[in-house]
Formats: sequence, C-alpha cells, structure tokens
Amino acid sequence: MKQASDNRHQTQEDKSDGYEDCEKLKHLIRNGKYVLDCGHLVTLNHNLGNNIAIINGRDLKIICTLCLY
Ligand SMILES: [Zn+2]
Repeated sequence: MKQASDNRHQTQEDKSDGYEDCEKLKHLIRNGKYVLDCGHLVTLNHNLGNNIAIINGRDLKIICTLCLY
C-alpha cells in the first residue's frame, strides 16, 4: 500500500528518515489536561473532550477544532 512520495502523505512504511511512530506522540500527551493556545481546555482520552489540531510552523500552535475554522 504505497502512497505518493509527497511527505504529507508518507505512510508508516516510509519512516526511515527519522520519523517516529505516531503512537509515541500519543503516548506523550495521553491523559493530559491542557489550556490550549485558543484559550479553550482539553482533557485527552475523554470521549466528550474537545478535539485538537496542531498548527505547524516555526512555533507550534495547538488549538481546538472549534477554533480551527
Ligand atoms: Zn478553541
């Protein structure tokens, strides 16, 4: 199941260039409670909690998906 070489669409099979498995990122933030950059709160691993989005760039921004649009 190969995808396009565009790095936005790289798959798990292509993690040879120093890419970590996403599970590692999830493990780091698991069960966390955070005040997001948009000012809203998120409780992770909670069914009713906000969803969050990471805005990429030199400084990362993490906001809830309600503030994404
Ligand atoms: Zn928000």
